[in-house]
Amino acid sequence: MKKVNNIAVLTSGGDAPGMNAAVRAVVRTGIYHQMNVYGVMYGYRGMVKNEILPMESKSVANIIQRGGTILKTARCMEFYEPEGRQKAYENLKKHNIDGLIVIGGDGSFKGAQKFSQEYDIPCIGLPGTIDKDIAGTDFTIGFDTAVNTAIDAIDKIRDTADAHDRLFIIEVMGRDAGYIALHSGIATGAEHIMMPEHKAEVEDIIADLQANERRKKLVNLIVVAEGHETGANEVAKMIKHRLPNADTRVCILGHIQRGGTPTCQDRILASRMGYAAVNALIEGTYNVMVGIVNNKIHYTPLDHAVKAKEEMDTDWVKMCKILAS
Ligand code: ATP
Repeated sequence: MKKVNNIAVLTSGGDAPGMNAAVRAVVRTGIYHQMNVYGVMYGYRGMVKNEILPMESKSVANIIQRGGTILKTARCMEFYEPEGRQKAYENLKKHNIDGLIVIGGDGSFKGAQKFSQEYDIPCIGLPGTIDKDIAGTDFTIGFDTAVNTAIDAIDKIRDTADAHDRLFIIEVMGRDAGYIALHSGIATGAEHIMMPEHKAEVEDIIADLQANERRKKLVNLIVVAEGHETGANEVAKMIKHRLPNADTRVCILGHIQRGGTPTCQDRILASRMGYAAVNALIEGTYNVMVGIVNNKIHYTPLDHAVKAKEEMDTDWVKMCKILAS
């Protein structure tokens, strides 16, 4: 097994709160093991364009509590092509980099997998995405913060909904996965949750709202994941058509869910994962994603670290409805 001496870390794809804590953990664990550590700016774009900077312990001071990513992030079309990856390899070689840590989503892992097959540079992935939809890990960096941001916003919406006896349809992030909707919906006592994995019929929701109207339940919150086949505005239109007396409003939470100071859970998760990533390179566990399963570090081969296609536990949806009734 070849010893890894010079490592690079980058953040790629969509940003997620806690990425900075992961960068900090990688840099400081690498330095502890006498490695030279480099930061690549703007994800794979920085590899292709040679935006690669040496990192010291103080480069990552005062960032554990900050959202966003000090290394910036981007999507890079050139990295999809063999020529782009070759440029990236040549730039890494200029710095003698012999190990790469990629913090991002499943797309970023696909790029890392291709790169590690073509070139003799071991890659380690860390799941950084607010959606919690990567196979091989129970949690992803950023999910807990995003859910708490959504909860905070929905609690505020509930106050105004209650003051005006309004029905609110709240759209949260989650293009392919409804975990933010499921968790924030349960935690805020929403009446209904609509997610890509669990088709909710608007007709059933309308029947339920009619029953609530009859028993004078005046506040109703419906949380919709952005990836649900019927979008929040469309749901509102259908409800307004069938329940003209309901004072119905839509609120799309949007990008606030990506920002903000990471929660304790995300900071600890990111720290453990960053530490484990460097240890994996030292131990010779190459081309894997570091995950957490049953609260233990778990390695998944990069080519299996794809978008999770798990069955949603529909009992959670049933529970949510019972508890909100
Ligand atoms: P998010 O979950 O936020 O979408 P992601 O990591 O899945 O994050 P992508 O845009 O899919 O985001 O991928 C990030 C970058 O990874 C791409 O811009 C590209 O540079 C690289 N990449 C993705 N897929 C591949 C692939 N099949 N081959 C080579 N590189 C890829």
